[in-house]
Amino acid sequence: MTDKKVPPPPVLPPPFKVIDNFCLFHKGTIQGETYTCPKCKTKYCLECAKKAKLGGKLCIKCKQLVIA
Ligand SMILES: [Zn+2]
Ligand SMILES: [Zn+2]
Repeated sequence: MTDKKVPPPPVLPPPFKVIDNFCLFHKGTIQGETYTCPKCKTKYCLECAKKAKLGGKLCIKCKQLVIA
C-alpha cells in the first residue's frame, strides 16, 4: 500500500487585478482625463468626478469631497 501523502491543492484566493485606471464611479476604465482624490489618491474619470461633485457624492474610498 502506498501511503503517499498528496498535498492538497493550494487554495489561493483569485488574483485580484489591480487596475490602475479603474473608475469606481462608473465602474469601468477611466476615459479621457483623470481626477485624483487629494486624500487617498484614488483615480476617477474627470467627467465622473464632476458629476459626483454636482451630485454631492463623496470619494468612494475615503469619503473625501470631490473637488473636480
Ligand atoms: Zn479619496
Ligand atoms: Zn468614471
